[in-house]
Amino acid sequence: MSDDEREDLEHIVVEYYTQHLNHLSTEILELLKDLSKEFGVAIIVITHNLGIVARYADRVNIMYAGRLIERGTCKEIYHNPRHPYTIGLMHSVPRLDQPRKTRLDPIEGQPPEMIDLKPICSFLDRCKFAIDRCSNEVPPLREVEEGHLSACWVAEELGDSEKP
Ligand code: SF4
Repeated sequence: MSDDEREDLEHIVVEYYTQHLNHLSTEILELLKDLSKEFGVAIIVITHNLGIVARYADRVNIMYAGRLIERGTCKEIYHNPRHPYTIGLMHSVPRLDQPRKTRLDPIEGQPPEMIDLKPICSFLDRCKFAIDRCSNEVPPLREVEEGHLSACWVAEELGDSEKP
C-alpha cells in the first residue's frame, strides 16, 4: 500500500463467516487491531459470532431483516440490550461470564420473507413483548439512552429480568 493510499484509508471492512474463533482468525483479527491503532482507521467487522464482538468491538450495530435495530457500546449491548432480538441473541449463545450449566434459549420462529416485508415490526412473529402498535407501524430507530439506540416500541420497558 502506498503512503497516499494509507492517508486516504478511513476504514477497513471485514466479513467473518464462521461461528468459531480459531488460531488463524484470531491472528488476523489481532493484526487488524494493530493496523487500526497504527493508522488510526476504523475496522468494521460483519459477523454472527458474538465472541468476536465481545472481544474486539467498541461499538455494535445489530441488524435484523435488513434493518439496523440496535446500536450501542459493546457493554450496553451485552449488559443492557434494548431490543427483544438482541435479548434473544444473548440468551441463545454460551457466554464465558455465565455459569457453565446456564440453559440456552434459542429464538423461536423464522425471519420474515425479505421480498415481502410489511410496514410492521419485522420481529413481530417472534417477539414475546409485542403490543398492538407493533402490528401497525414500523418502529423507528430512536435513542433510549445517551448514544444507545433501539428500534422497538417498548425498549424502555424491557425489564432487568429479561436481560442476559
Ligand atoms: S416493536 Fe414490538 S414486535 Fe417489535 S421488537 Fe419491539 S415489542 Fe417486539
